[in-house]
Amino acid sequence: MIEIVQADITTLNVDAIVNAANSTLGGGGGVDGAIHRAAGPALAEAAVPLGPCPTGDAVITPGFRLHCRFVIHAVGPVWSGGKRGEEDLLRRAYERSFQLAKEEGTIRSIAFPAISTGVYRFPKPRAAEIGIGAMRAYEADFDRIVACLFDEESALLYADLMSSLR
Ligand code: ADP
Repeated sequence: MIEIVQADITTLNVDAIVNAANSTLGGGGGVDGAIHRAAGPALAEAAVPLGPCPTGDAVITPGFRLHCRFVIHAVGPVWSGGKRGEEDLLRRAYERSFQLAKEEGTIRSIAFPAISTGVYRFPKPRAAEIGIGAMRAYEADFDRIVACLFDEESALLYADLMSSLR
């Protein structure tokens, strides 16, 4: 089941949340900063040695002080006009996150932010199509997949797209 919610991803009760990380895995602004603040410094201590993480790839760590048991740190592309493989790299960031969640073996619910659509400036409508496309491809492997949007514009975009697909 795919759910669309407008919320701060750090408040969700799911097995794993996905972070829109940068390749250093040490934390940053936006959702990355919120996740590191909520998890505590142990998150960076666990994640940084697993890096640097290439764009389009992901790593998994415990969730530490978060409600979730795991954080999957996915590195989406910086948008630079669309001719540098950004769409493919964003798709791969979602797919790698799902693969790591499956391999872990006990993750039944997973939440994603709108990777790359903040500071990395990926156009929101196209990012929503790519995100939902990946979620549908992995829908059968999980009990709950949550698309967690922070702003109303993104939440409405996802809701419209989902209803057009039903
Ligand atoms: P990126 O560098 O990948 O663009 P950002 O964190 O700047 O990452 O933005 C990605 C998306 O995450 C944006 O749509 C932003 O609105 C959203 N976002 C910011 N804070 C949170 C949060 N606490 N929970 C969920 N989404 C968030």
